[in-house]
Amino acid sequence: MGYKIACLPGDGIGPEVTDSVIEVLNAVAEKFQQSFEMSKYLIGGCAIDATGEPLPQETIDACNSADAVFLGAIGGPKWDDPNAKVRPEQGLLKLRSELGVFSNIRPLTVFPKLLDASPLKPELLKDVDFVVVRELTGGIYFGAKNRGEDFATDECRYSIQEVERITKVACEMAMQRRKILTSVDKANVLETSRLWRDVVSRYVAENYPEITLEHQLVDSCAMKLIQNPSHFDVILTENMFGDILSDEASVLAGSMGLLASSSLGQGVGLFEPIHGSAPDIAGQGIANPYASILSAAMMLRWLNLTKEADAVENAVQQAIANDVLTRDLDATSSVTTKDATLAVIEYL
Ligand code: ATP
Ligand code: MG
Repeated sequence: MGYKIACLPGDGIGPEVTDSVIEVLNAVAEKFQQSFEMSKYLIGGCAIDATGEPLPQETIDACNSADAVFLGAIGGPKWDDPNAKVRPEQGLLKLRSELGVFSNIRPLTVFPKLLDASPLKPELLKDVDFVVVRELTGGIYFGAKNRGEDFATDECRYSIQEVERITKVACEMAMQRRKILTSVDKANVLETSRLWRDVVSRYVAENYPEITLEHQLVDSCAMKLIQNPSHFDVILTENMFGDILSDEASVLAGSMGLLASSSLGQGVGLFEPIHGSAPDIAGQGIANPYASILSAAMMLRWLNLTKEADAVENAVQQAIANDVLTRDLDATSSVTTKDATLAVIEYL
């Protein structure tokens, strides 16, 4: 029967990197005698253009009946008007809540070959290897929004149960790693953060006594991510702080074009590169496909296709080690999305 993968290419470079993933998964299927049934569905700006909605019901239904979902990227200048009634990001937020994917997991390692691609000094980056675990369906992004004549409000809300379930995800991850958990909040000013800190402290003490737990304020954590990034093992944080910190952390790796993510809940998993639709380079065939291919590897691992996931990750590592670098990684390079994709398939 094979695995059913709903592919949501989206906008900008989304379709280009999604095609790379489809090609790589076809190669994996052939090599490992697997079968992936991959179909494309609309989300984001292109969905607004075609149907008037950023997340058509057909896409929701296809995702709910798939084994996993791969998403490219959404949005772009064409749909940027902040006063527009429908916006591409609404499609993504809705998809996350429809799928109930409350945890967003972003691993970060620095490829030895790319120590120079980062603006940080190589000695600071040597042993960097951490995962950001971000709460994805609560907090200020999902709270009630209100606009008055001369004011606006965004409600930030967390329940104990929401904090516990994301803490459990982070603890499980820490147990497979160095067992150091850094919980990030702003408990000196925010009530939701004081709840967050209380719940995390109690939950870890009761259930994971082997884990070393530390709390950091988000401002201080932002600084330490740059000053001493190798300190971190698992970073646990709420929705908005996680959004900001994980984009900051991506700089360590040298390019947004390298970083993968998964979003998981009870049901189907959602896998996507952390970068956006990169309208500045869309349509030129030069986007870095590695973040997407590595997201597909996370998807394979989540589907329990471990040797397939290992093979894809190794192939990307080899391509990078052999200087198959797109322009975001090497300004003088003429390597295209297609070249990088074919290199990965060859190293498979
Ligand atoms: P979003 O609002 O969707 O999060 P963003 O504003 O964070 O988007 P991106 O679209 O991620 O921005 O792009 C940021 C910069 O990184 C752009 O200059 C873009 O060209 C570059 N970039 C992002 N992804 C890639 C990629 N896969 N390959 C090459 N360059 C990329
Ligand atoms: Mg962004």
